[in-house]
Amino acid sequence: MANSPIGKIFACHECDHFYSYEMIPVGAKANCHHCGNLLYRHIPDSINRSLALYLTALILFFIANIFPFLSLELGGRVVDSILFSSGWAMYKLGMGELGALIILTSILFPFTVIVGMLYLLIPARLGTVAPFMSQVYRIVNKLIPWSLVGVFMLGVLIAIVKLQDLANVATGPSLVALTLLLLVYTAARANFDPHDLWSFAEHNFSNLSREDIENHKILNCHTCGLLSRQTANSQNCTRCLSPLHFRKHNSVEVTWALLIAAFVLLIPANVYPVMTVIRFGQGEPSTILSGVLHLIESGMWGLAMIVFIASIVVPVLKLVILSFLLISVHKKSDWRPRDRTLLYRVTEIVGAWSMVDIFLVGLLSSLVSLDALSTIRPGIGAVFFAAVVVITMFAAHSFDPRLIWDQIKENNNKD
Ligand SMILES: [Zn+2]
Ligand SMILES: [Zn+2]
Repeated sequence: MANSPIGKIFACHECDHFYSYEMIPVGAKANCHHCGNLLYRHIPDSINRSLALYLTALILFFIANIFPFLSLELGGRVVDSILFSSGWAMYKLGMGELGALIILTSILFPFTVIVGMLYLLIPARLGTVAPFMSQVYRIVNKLIPWSLVGVFMLGVLIAIVKLQDLANVATGPSLVALTLLLLVYTAARANFDPHDLWSFAEHNFSNLSREDIENHKILNCHTCGLLSRQTANSQNCTRCLSPLHFRKHNSVEVTWALLIAAFVLLIPANVYPVMTVIRFGQGEPSTILSGVLHLIESGMWGLAMIVFIASIVVPVLKLVILSFLLISVHKKSDWRPRDRTLLYRVTEIVGAWSMVDIFLVGLLSSLVSLDALSTIRPGIGAVFFAAVVVITMFAAHSFDPRLIWDQIKENNNKD
């Protein structure tokens, strides 16, 4: 019989307040009273459901990768594009680093997450534990924020609209598979309850009492959420083997360093062209901003808004919000901790959507390669922009939102 977490103590990941698991109705979710973070949900039959969905996702993943998803027809010539093409085109055009980033985030990481989850769920379905479960769980967890199927899909939609005035665009069977993959993958993640998986494992739930929590320093595992009493200077989670620390190591310093790097890189990312459209031998380099203006001139207001928000507003806002959070922590502010945590959560979620510009450059470069007629080449600005997106994502991950709450607790203790 599997173990249940009911009655066991755990801590909120974002503010470190302690709770004990209670039975909640099917489909309900429990949120933190203090910061509003989602603590857990009651998903019935989570193992079976997520297993079925991940299996479907795997099949769709293969279909999506085998067949062409877009073809471009111009002057009697047809260019087919499969998923792999956009990354490969970047590599062939001398931008291997961008090609690798595209292939990793749109193909390899999502594939690893799907296969990794199946590796964990199939034995759980049979009531046992997969060998190296902890390691696989950690890898899957690390890769989930970098698996950008949805962002890639948005890139495909923008590419279709953008290419309308250039040539005939036909959608292939794999575009349907890719759309379904996105839906099934999202549903699979939403239907997975890690407690059901851990209930079969050794050290499945923490046995700490309220007294332990009052009298000892408690470490909350970032990966799996298991609480441990601090016993040594460097300590690993007994359940998922992740290194444990009370707060993320040097969170403030590391986040500052990454933010400053991103601020600096934002300049060349906006000054240099992200791509060059060559028509009948005439090159027309375009920066992020001139690309947006070009869309407005062509009357594509909606698209211009999406590109403007994803590639200019989001990166700048993210840098500003993270800087504000760091300064507020530094100043030991006790101003609206719940709202500041919400701001943090938003930056963490929206950051990856800026990648849409990189996917778009890759898609356009692979599709529009009709030599003399029309060709799109990536520009050096795209490399700087990709660096900004990746670095700000790392910056958001390195910031520890519990630092916001430490000051509040300190003030409460004084009162
Ligand atoms: Zn909380
Ligand atoms: Zn853990």
